[in-house]
Amino acid sequence: MIIKERETSLSLNQLEALERRLVNTHPNYTLIKERLGSELAGRKGELALNYPLSFCTNEQLIFYDLRLWDGTHYFQNDALILTREWILLIEAKYMAGTLYYDDKQLIRDDHQGFDNPIHQVNRHKNQLQKWLHLHSFPSPSIYCLVTNSHPLCVIRSNTQEDDIVIRTYDLPVKINKLDTLQFPTSLSTTELQEISTALLKFHHPLSYNYLKTIDVQPSDVKTGIYCSSCSYAPLQRHHGTWYCPKCRRSDKQAHIEALKDYRLIFGDEITNEKAKKFLRLDSSSVTKRILQALSLEQQGKNKGRKYYLKTLI
Ligand SMILES: [Zn+2]
Repeated sequence: MIIKERETSLSLNQLEALERRLVNTHPNYTLIKERLGSELAGRKGELALNYPLSFCTNEQLIFYDLRLWDGTHYFQNDALILTREWILLIEAKYMAGTLYYDDKQLIRDDHQGFDNPIHQVNRHKNQLQKWLHLHSFPSPSIYCLVTNSHPLCVIRSNTQEDDIVIRTYDLPVKINKLDTLQFPTSLSTTELQEISTALLKFHHPLSYNYLKTIDVQPSDVKTGIYCSSCSYAPLQRHHGTWYCPKCRRSDKQAHIEALKDYRLIFGDEITNEKAKKFLRLDSSSVTKRILQALSLEQQGKNKGRKYYLKTLI
């Protein structure tokens, strides 16, 4: 049973908006493309857990993306499964190629080296034990797994801990095996409930803000509305709707996605003048009508009026 759903990632949404909008001459453009590639792969690995974990029973409580404080450091798991007898921590990967796990690192057949996710998930296990101790909870047996969902991955290893690394589709088998083991201690129903509540209560979401690290000037950003069908930009305003001259599709609400991009790149606040420029409109009164129709929070009057985009979902 899912107790905590996955978080939407601000950093991933920002990177996607920056990739769409930032001029490719910006000094950080390549870096943004690389970061986006790695965040998307991470997200793919996490999403691949949905199907195998849908086989979990109602007694197996699933928490996605928990981020906890162990007293000295934060640690974040892709998935944690809590039961009365055991806890399972899962680190989800989406990596192609032949992957060699050894005691030091993870090496791919293109000779690229990576931090060993086995060490990472084992560290999270110790940190979870510290967290349980910090909150005076008993600790059930804690197990760790690293899953890889890429269809073109081959797992090789010469480490004692190679049973920690599995293909994602093998998760239900691994979880069923845990349920057949005998455990010295088991949590009472009350303890299980208390730990479950505390995991939610002490979760500290990470909202990494790329804008604080990347200097983006308004002149670095492409303006205009993108077509949701063919990605052409800029759409044209025709008789109260947005028209795509390439695929000829009309969309009355196309400005919403553009304003979401604006928010991810420049922050919550926008004025009529800035919106007019970003949406490539000629008229301040049309811009005003569009902004007013979104029922945004507002402050100030006339030219100084500010609209807040945070309610755009
Ligand atoms: Zn189009």
